[in-house]
Amino acid sequence: LASRQFRPASTVIDVGGVEVGGGRLVVMAGPCAVESRAQLLEAAEIAREGGAQFLRGGAFKPRTSPYSFQGLERQGLEYLAEAREATGLKIVTEVVDVTSVAMVAEYADVLQIGARNMQNFKLLQAVGQAGKPVLLKRGIAATISEWLHAAEYILSEGNYQVMLCERGIRTFEEYTRNTLDLSAVVAAKKLSHLPVVVDPSHGTGRRELVGPMAMAAVAAGADGLMVEMHPNPATALSDGPQSLNPEQYRELMAAVFSLADFL
Ligand code: PEP
Ligand code: MN
Repeated sequence: LASRQFRPASTVIDVGGVEVGGGRLVVMAGPCAVESRAQLLEAAEIAREGGAQFLRGGAFKPRTSPYSFQGLERQGLEYLAEAREATGLKIVTEVVDVTSVAMVAEYADVLQIGARNMQNFKLLQAVGQAGKPVLLKRGIAATISEWLHAAEYILSEGNYQVMLCERGIRTFEEYTRNTLDLSAVVAAKKLSHLPVVVDPSHGTGRRELVGPMAMAAVAAGADGLMVEMHPNPATALSDGPQSLNPEQYRELMAAVFSLADFL
């Protein structure tokens, strides 16, 4: 179902009036984690001013260490809904397990499946049944084929609103957090009709690399970008080193939208 052989025309996903895959670049911007009402509302306003159509922010955070900040959970979802109300931005936020799908779906416009859950097949089936668009991140060590098969789990439940998200894969390189695989954008769009979003924040782990990789992703044909931005990255509770500050974010948005127009 995910293959272009099955469906030659590119899928366009309508998220409450915002089209993903329709030819206009979409940007999902915001902090890694929802940390407080003030932090999120400030980030949302900056995101909107820069031209993003989506606000991102995790209310449930899958952290490497159990001692790291795990997210505000329902309170975080409430703040996301309030930020949507305030800015008109659509909300994309992660759901980490089957038991919280219904709760996250109450608030989110797009359900994000994180890299660590790409092969959590019960979760994929659950979001397939939730009737909301899904952003499916590529697994930390997943091949393109495994990623498309994961999408297949969602589609096979009758939910065709799936966006693929390249967010870097684990390689032997240690300078960057992950190795952003931009060839996967071209490959996924050739093999599949689904829209492809690129996340250069997790893809590199370094804020100075985010802008150039975002530009390269647009040049490679990405339908969208997911970018971490924090009002004050130095105080971020997660992923500060890869979060753009507001100034860097504004500059990048001007650049990516003008590149997208040019293409
Ligand atoms: C995130 O988007 O905040 C996140 C946890 O991403 P990933 O699943 O790609 O690591
Ligand atoms: Mn993050």
